[in-house]
Amino acid sequence: MNLDLKNLSSRIIPNRPLIISGPCSAESQSQLLNTASQLKEINIDIFRAGIWKPRTRPNGFEGVGLPALEWLKNVKLETGLKVITEVANPFHLDKILENDIDMIWIGARTTGNPFAVQEIADAIKGVDIPVFIKNPLIPDLNLWVGAIERFYNSGIKDIVAIHRGFYNNISEDYRNIPEWKIPIKLKSLIPEMPLICDPSHIAGRKGLVTDISRLALDYDFDGLMIESHINPKSALTDQYQQLEPEELKILLNSLEKENILK
Ligand code: PEP
Ligand code: MN
Repeated sequence: MNLDLKNLSSRIIPNRPLIISGPCSAESQSQLLNTASQLKEINIDIFRAGIWKPRTRPNGFEGVGLPALEWLKNVKLETGLKVITEVANPFHLDKILENDIDMIWIGARTTGNPFAVQEIADAIKGVDIPVFIKNPLIPDLNLWVGAIERFYNSGIKDIVAIHRGFYNNISEDYRNIPEWKIPIKLKSLIPEMPLICDPSHIAGRKGLVTDISRLALDYDFDGLMIESHINPKSALTDQYQQLEPEELKILLNSLEKENILK
């Protein structure tokens, strides 16, 4: 594969692993602010929350949508944390830009659709914003690389890949199979691009999140995106995999003690 992505920048990655955390979905202003203020205490770098949720079937909770942008903006004002959310079309992009959201991520379902990726990439031309790109649901490295190239060709210099595992109907251990060789191959193809891991969506249940995080950092990933909710049992999406902020603190402390997270 011939890749020339030499002008990528890594200005948003600190000189230790980047930690992104926050709930799967924004549900209310108080949920976001409470979660964010607790996560701020444990020194995360970026606060995440999904505003538009890609659900497999209709009629479930599909995210709060526009009102949640205001909440995310308030998180930023009150905590000083940088904020990131998922963008799946040019309308989402317009709205997050109007509301000063710092960064965006492209979800696994979008990465797998070159038409959708190209529409967002066309809309983002001339905008200087970091774009995090999750792997597609299917284990096709080229599809992931293609999405990265589309944003790169639109002038985005801060591109970070997120490994969140691949669709699974085989293993009972994982919600999404890690297939570590795929992100590792991506890193060898584009060494200048930061690569982080989302252990929450690989695990699907919180008991597995620490082990996957440890493995990712052992493999030299540049950071972690871990879902955290003040009350996971009441979460409207992904309740089994979200950690309470206190549990995230324990996870990060234990990786620090093992000298894995410095
Ligand atoms: C999420 O991060 O909550 C999400 C929907 O992720 P993915 O696109 O990896 O399924
Ligand atoms: Mn989720």
